[in-house]
Amino acid sequence: MHNRYSHRAIAFLTVAIILMSVWFFWDTYTTGRAIDAERSLSGTGQAIFAIPRFREVPVTYSFVENTQENERECFSYERDRVRLAFEVLENETDGAVRFSESENGRIEVRCYVLKSEGYHLVSGEGSSTVIGGEIVGGTLRLYTTRNCGVWPDVEIHELLHIFGFGHIDDRTSIMYPEQLKCDLGSVDGEIVQELKEVYG
Ligand SMILES: [Zn+2]
Repeated sequence: MHNRYSHRAIAFLTVAIILMSVWFFWDTYTTGRAIDAERSLSGTGQAIFAIPRFREVPVTYSFVENTQENERECFSYERDRVRLAFEVLENETDGAVRFSESENGRIEVRCYVLKSEGYHLVSGEGSSTVIGGEIVGGTLRLYTTRNCGVWPDVEIHELLHIFGFGHIDDRTSIMYPEQLKCDLGSVDGEIVQELKEVYG
């Protein structure tokens, strides 16, 4: 039945849903590696926005398995790629950012069965929960086992989302929303600099 009250209710609900969406995306940076699901938060040559930070370094991480639907055990080579991603960030930042594997880590690494969105296969997602400028937890999700090369491009990309970096509209950037080639082999200088300043 349509009357002006039901229209008001629908309008109210719509506004509520929009507000909740804005709130959700404000605090949570989520993306698919192979799709441009999120807004670009910084552009080429611009200063990267003020990133939130983990309070404690080393940042702890754990591999979490089989606790949710569609999850699977991470293969050992997937774990190795994730560990290599942590190592690359440690080395690039000269140890300003460090990681250690532990139980109930701040960053949860989870592996899932394949996920597709439209024509793209999503290879990973990185999201974090930020409270008052502090990253209180993050999740690194891996969906595909077909990542190319030996350098952990996808893993580092998603990890940087957890650290609060958005996409960068530069095809040579690790934070470009699509993986254009294998073994990119470097993290943008401005990202490394920002991490060193925040954690150094
Ligand atoms: Zn992304």
